[in-house]
Amino acid sequence: MSSENKVGVFLCSGCGLNEALNFNELVKVAVEENKASVCKVNQWLCCDESVNMIKQDITDENLNRVVIGACSQRFLSDIFSFGSDVTADRVNLRENVAWTHKPNDEDTQMLANDYLRMGIAKVNNIEIAEPFKRDINETVLVVGGGITGMTSALAAARAGNSVILTEKDDKLGGWLNKVYKTEPSHTPYLHPEMPETGKMISEVESNDKIQVFKSCLITKISGEPGNFKVILNNSQTFIVGSIIQATGSRPYNAEKLTDLGYGKYENVLTGVQFEEYFLNGKKLQDGKPVKSVAFIQCAGSRDEKHLPYCSSTCCTTSLKQALYVREKFPDALIYIIYKDIRTPAHMEHFYKRVQTEDNIFFTKGEVVSINKSDNGSIFIDIDNTLLGDKIRIESEVVVLATGTVPSTLVGEIETSASETEPNGKTLDGKKAAQSAEAGAKILNLAYRQGTDLPTLKYGYPDSHYICFPYETRRTGIYAAGSVRYPMDIESCKEDAYGAALKAIQVLYTAREGKAVHPRSGDQSYPEFFLQRCTQCKRCTEECPFGTLDEDEKGTPLPNLTRCRRCGICLGACPERIISFKDYSIQMISSMIKSVEIPDEFDEKPRILAFLCENDAYPSLDFAGRHRLQYDPNVRVIPVRCLGSVNVVWIADALSRGFDGVLLIGCKYGDDYQCHYVKGSELASKRMENVQEKLKQLVLEPERVKLMTLSIDEYGKIPGIFNEFVEQIREIGFNPYKGM
Ligand code: SF4
Ligand code: SF4
Repeated sequence: MSSENKVGVFLCSGCGLNEALNFNELVKVAVEENKASVCKVNQWLCCDESVNMIKQDITDENLNRVVIGACSQRFLSDIFSFGSDVTADRVNLRENVAWTHKPNDEDTQMLANDYLRMGIAKVNNIEIAEPFKRDINETVLVVGGGITGMTSALAAARAGNSVILTEKDDKLGGWLNKVYKTEPSHTPYLHPEMPETGKMISEVESNDKIQVFKSCLITKISGEPGNFKVILNNSQTFIVGSIIQATGSRPYNAEKLTDLGYGKYENVLTGVQFEEYFLNGKKLQDGKPVKSVAFIQCAGSRDEKHLPYCSSTCCTTSLKQALYVREKFPDALIYIIYKDIRTPAHMEHFYKRVQTEDNIFFTKGEVVSINKSDNGSIFIDIDNTLLGDKIRIESEVVVLATGTVPSTLVGEIETSASETEPNGKTLDGKKAAQSAEAGAKILNLAYRQGTDLPTLKYGYPDSHYICFPYETRRTGIYAAGSVRYPMDIESCKEDAYGAALKAIQVLYTAREGKAVHPRSGDQSYPEFFLQRCTQCKRCTEECPFGTLDEDEKGTPLPNLTRCRRCGICLGACPERIISFKDYSIQMISSMIKSVEIPDEFDEKPRILAFLCENDAYPSLDFAGRHRLQYDPNVRVIPVRCLGSVNVVWIADALSRGFDGVLLIGCKYGDDYQCHYVKGSELASKRMENVQEKLKQLVLEPERVKLMTLSIDEYGKIPGIFNEFVEQIREIGFNPYKGM
């Protein structure tokens, strides 16, 4: 303990704690064992009177460290917060001890005593985190001048930010320039609308706060949120604070749809081509009145051989185009052949309205073949229809409702049901989507980890598909619109507003030195003691957010406003030279070492469990709130991410005499739920190495186990803990105990 630390311990005896625990013993742990300057027990520590008492003691006794032994740190955090000069931490005696273990029991008391020891060790090894503050530039760069980009630019400009909008074409508008009409956007959602692209373009171009660069590409972006340096291909250079990527999507390559007749028969068109006929007044069928048009839905979408996902907009587009046909050729027969019609939200009204039109026939079924008849029209053979019969439709024109792929996709998706491995790689080992690594070359980021936003499979640049829909894996850069996932025009606009707000929010957090999601507002940041860096590059390779560039020797060059404070670099560093003021190797090691380890004759195994604070630890809280009972031999330490667990902590635990170590984090893999994208996956790789080491030390590899858990799986916690303790009992006690 630092000689300057003055620790006060305040214990709550409400919420059933008094009925479960011996507080005299806890006071002894605080005062006699750990030399706390003050230790008080109080019923209802969270009431105003008690909180004022703590504040008074802080002043009277000059306390700079406070331990609250009460409920979980996930509750009442605003109440138990005592200003920036006092480091306060919570020991969870309620959910982790009293509510989940036998009352007035020796093992329950030992558990409470250990948690108090760990809490005091923790505050003694935390320093106050001073935020770094930066001068930042408040300009927002919007890349892409389609509907999403223009909406984002206007939103940011209206909020008072300067905006730079770049567009690769010589005019703004993007795909909107290629549509005759748009789907309904206003109540009663029954009629396609004329696009108002021109009006929006002039609004953007006449806005004083928006500078537009057309026919323009990004050559290079370097720097970090608050201070990105952007170079355009016309050699113009400027500084911006945040970036919105609104580069949209492109149609799926119809040349791959030869089985649907594309490229074989000139009267088989894509939806995009069909739209052009109406937009430009081109003549279909040499200008003769068209007698029949068949739309084939999901052309390439929801198909493992092409795009396994739903492209979301194609059903509404075909409904809209059916009305074009109805308008221009009132007598034409119109067929819509579908797997399912998907018209979310208000578009259902539009679907219903199109159903009421005469001579529009909806047919559910699978297209099995397409052939040309002698008279030049197309035969479409359909199986698995609603009536169970095979049917044949003859149509003069066939329109394929092709899906979309994001502009961030490099090349084509190369998947097929039989050829795809579970990790999303194709058999030739090439990742289905790898824009950051392969270089989609849109943003041209000068980042050590690649030139563009990293993508999930299929090329969409998402970060955490459940919790943080706008975040990408590059802080301060937000994907919006159909580059993020397939979406219609109205959804693109909504997404554009969301991204604009995020792009503005990050300017404030960058200025204040605070983290964005998921540790929003955290002011701590990683510090690197580079004198001892061996340039192993582990941290620069493993940081999921590309925070760390590196010099030519491999020494990390942190860009702190890119950092999400996950601690994965801390977990990766073999030299243990990365730390946060309030999260460090020393802090966790001291907590581990503070636990009292009974000798093996006591028959009380000790298990150390690292639980990720994002899902696993909240899950443990839920287990507590549901009063689920579990083994009292487990000592839990919450960690920022499983990826932040440094293997030295496992070594510390085993050499201290713990009999087993459990790590519980978020699910990893393609459908990962890790809040830091790859933290739990990295941890699992590291643990494989740990288990190898254990074998070399003639220790059973089963002593270290990694598991994954979702936040709603709290019911599994007792089983996980109890089974692991049982397994360790079977293996036997740690032979290094007491050495
Ligand atoms: S804390 Fe996380 S985001 Fe920050 S540098 Fe380390 S690994 Fe990267
Ligand atoms: S992991 Fe540690 S030793 Fe390796 S490059 Fe990073 S700071 Fe240096």
